[in-house]
Amino acid sequence: MSAPTHWDLAVVGAGPAGAATALGALCAGPELRVVLLDRADFPRDKTCGDGVAPHVLDLLAEVGVTGLLDDRVPVDRLRLGRGGLVAERRTARPAWVVPRRILDARLVDAAVAAGARLLRHRVRDLRQHTDAVVLDGEISAAVVVGADGAHSAVRRVLGRSRGPTALALRGYAPVGPGRRGTQVIEFGTRHQPSYAWSFDLGDGLANVGYGELLHEDRPAPTRAQLLERLEALLPGATGGGRHWAGHHLPLSTARRRPPAGRVLLVGDAACLVNPLTGEGIHSAVATGVTAGRAAAAALRDGRPEEAGERHARAVRRVLLPHLRHTALAARLARSTHVVEAGLRASAADQRVFDDLVELGLARGRLTPAVALGLGRAFLTAVRPSGGPQEAV
Ligand SMILES: Cc1cc2nc3c(=O)[nH]c(=O)nc-3n(C[C@H](O)[C@H](O)[C@H](O)COP(=O)(O)OP(=O)(O)OC[C@H]3O[C@@H](n4cnc5c(N)ncnc54)[C@H](O)[C@@H]3O)c2cc1C
Repeated sequence: MSAPTHWDLAVVGAGPAGAATALGALCAGPELRVVLLDRADFPRDKTCGDGVAPHVLDLLAEVGVTGLLDDRVPVDRLRLGRGGLVAERRTARPAWVVPRRILDARLVDAAVAAGARLLRHRVRDLRQHTDAVVLDGEISAAVVVGADGAHSAVRRVLGRSRGPTALALRGYAPVGPGRRGTQVIEFGTRHQPSYAWSFDLGDGLANVGYGELLHEDRPAPTRAQLLERLEALLPGATGGGRHWAGHHLPLSTARRRPPAGRVLLVGDAACLVNPLTGEGIHSAVATGVTAGRAAAAALRDGRPEEAGERHARAVRRVLLPHLRHTALAARLARSTHVVEAGLRASAADQRVFDDLVELGLARGRLTPAVALGLGRAFLTAVRPSGGPQEAV
């Protein structure tokens, strides 16, 4: 066998987490030899709701990527509902709804423009040696970042399990009346926790879907059941729908330490999907950028074996409070009373709405405004005159 090609950094998977890793590394060390490996050719689809939080663009700007979505139509209304209770408001900052075929290809282009080499390659095997990590016996790197998604081969080789997981189905359908210019989320009433969504793409179509948490003690829902539950929560949403596809979401609720050493995990491979909303692109880009920077710093200091520990420290600093607060919020949200109190409080107070959106989309925490709003909503609900509040 010929000697493996050697790289400073090999990134397995070129989704948002992988592209952000390459960008984070190359922004900190433009001279680094970085290879992005993906089993697919780009552009490629990725099953997703396509909702992109504005914070993703903030992170990308930090690594030199600007104007990525300037040609897209922003969406600044969000409607949250459950069983007739509705909170609909303008969001503090507009979000985007961008098919992943477009978003991910643009991110890969940005990484390649920054100096990364993109190779089509499906990684099946990873061996750690004292001075390098070797992938499939042919690609060697000082540091490897596993950014290979929910079913990560790198995570498997490291012997780590996936933990709590949701399953969701999405399709593209004509945007329903009353759902234009809006991201609509309708929480489930029967299969907890669950929700259906309709996110307007701005071109006459909406990304529509439904997802729920998987439980060990009940069978995973079939495709037909997922479609049925979507239609039950958002009547008419599935009409004319196409390109239905399902995928797992590895949630961030389990406590895990990021791996130390030369092999790092980011994004879905690190199980970082927000358990409240299914948001994962922000976490993917956030951990990708920190992993890229950590790898670059460790390589610069001639200590690639410290990349993992440096990344773990950065993730603790940047994301840990948010992860703890979302885990707590997800536990609380198992109670329908809490979900309903959250909706009533959001309908009554823009600040509560904004803080909950921040918790669901980026690095937000359970703030005093949220605690106070929930308390007030509970009190209103138990008063005899406190019937459900309607939309703002
Ligand atoms: C139905 C659904 C709806 C969602 N909606 C939203 C939403 O609206 N907003 C949001 O922010 N998040 C959403 N998410 C979550 C979001 O899709 C993920 O969190 C996000 O894609 C994670 O990015 P990633 O780069 O970690 O992984 P991925 O985007 O999955 O990228 C992984 C890449 O690795 C490649 N790969 C995999 N295995 C290998 C291998 N062995 N060798 C080489 N390459 C490999 C894949 O081809 C892929 O390109 C949703 C998820 C689902 C399933």
